[in-house]
Amino acid sequence: MEEIVSLCKRRGFIFPGSDIYGGVAGLYDFGPYGVELLNNLKQNWWKHNIQVRPDYVGLDSAMFKNPEVWKASGHVDSFSDPMAECKECHTRIRVDKELEKLGVFADEKMTEEEISKLFDEHKDKIKCPNCKKQDWTAPKKFNLLVKSNLGDFTEQNTEPTYLPGEACQGIYLNFKNVVDTCRVKIPFGIGQIGKAFRNEISPRNFLFRTREFEQADTQYFVRPYENKEPYERIKKEQWDWLLSLGIKEKNLQWHQHENLVFYAKDAWDIEYNYPGNGFDELMGIHDRSDYDLSQHMKFSGTDLEYRDPVTGEKYIPWILETSMGMGRLFLAVLCDAYEQNEERTVLHLHPELAPVKYAIFPLLKNKPELVAKAKEVFDNLSQRCNCEFDDNGNIGKRYRRQDEIGTPKCITIDFDTLEDGTVTVRDRDTTEQTRVKIEEL
Ligand code: ATP
Repeated sequence: MEEIVSLCKRRGFIFPGSDIYGGVAGLYDFGPYGVELLNNLKQNWWKHNIQVRPDYVGLDSAMFKNPEVWKASGHVDSFSDPMAECKECHTRIRVDKELEKLGVFADEKMTEEEISKLFDEHKDKIKCPNCKKQDWTAPKKFNLLVKSNLGDFTEQNTEPTYLPGEACQGIYLNFKNVVDTCRVKIPFGIGQIGKAFRNEISPRNFLFRTREFEQADTQYFVRPYENKEPYERIKKEQWDWLLSLGIKEKNLQWHQHENLVFYAKDAWDIEYNYPGNGFDELMGIHDRSDYDLSQHMKFSGTDLEYRDPVTGEKYIPWILETSMGMGRLFLAVLCDAYEQNEERTVLHLHPELAPVKYAIFPLLKNKPELVAKAKEVFDNLSQRCNCEFDDNGNIGKRYRRQDEIGTPKCITIDFDTLEDGTVTVRDRDTTEQTRVKIEEL
């Protein structure tokens, strides 16, 4: 993981947030290559989950929402993780995750009593990551919602406007709008990519646990009790999609939740084998019954029942959800593509995801006719995809620079190009070189 973090900073994929001020834990900025990879992942997700599916539509809801939304969703009362603080240096730890590291089953859904009992039994094995002491406060629930002063509700002693703790609430709020305007019929899905903010107790593992991140969510609305078949189909589709991005199957695994919240019918995670961290959640796929729409119906007083256009039957649809952090996907894709050997560092990224598709080199920087021809090729190809022009250093060094950022093909313009209109195309993975006519690029 350290090698990946260093490559990301060195090559402009990811920078620590507010770096020149010393950074802030759990916040990162996507640099020039990072934003290209991120956008490619988002586009690929959108295409796979919405564009090619006749039964899915997209949405982009506002981040800020009426404060009641987060009461209805349960976030105000119970969106919390168990936290303990080091009495010596005040470093905070997330108790369930520390217990898990010891092989003790624990999760954030346990009551304060349950988690305190487990913590008491095992706390002598948990050292403070900062000062190494073992003197902890009793665990308490720490709410992860981030508050804002939008509309100055806080000054009026009313509920603050929260930043989204998860992106999907906007989908529930617009369920009726979509049904009324888009001629969709159940079963159908709504997808959205949106920001989420969480006051994570201990942000860690680079992009894995951050305080600001993007979630790509789909909510599939089905008739009550008609959940099983589509749930299995969605699980398989998401697994296959991750493989289609080039992620190796041996680095993915299923994890079924043992401790379900009371309304859930079933819940699975797809986990990725993050280097240094092992298998951990990449995407959640949840069979959530009618809980979300029922809650919003109760709190808003708006009828969110669906009326079947043929039978006239009215019901609150059940929801099958997929939810994935784009940062976690970004990290999984990078880790999976990374190879370091004696000769080079290379990212074997799927060409559709690679930040730069073609790098275009004039063989020599000081030959205006080669530079002019290379610029012409660049101008043409960059109309279609992201390309890079590089005339700096010898060709071998230029290849290495492109290998490190995962550019699938490098194109060199040399003296033969001026004679016969062909260029050398070098493949990132095989390092093989072939001669190709410019029109065939
Ligand atoms: P975890 O148990 O790891 O905290 P979670 O169960 O709270 O995750 P969900 O609330 O189900 O996660 O969120 C859906 C997805 O959002 C997760 O599968 C993950 O990919 C992503 N995600 C959640 N929290 C974070 C975070 N702090 N940083 C980056 N991505 C996150």
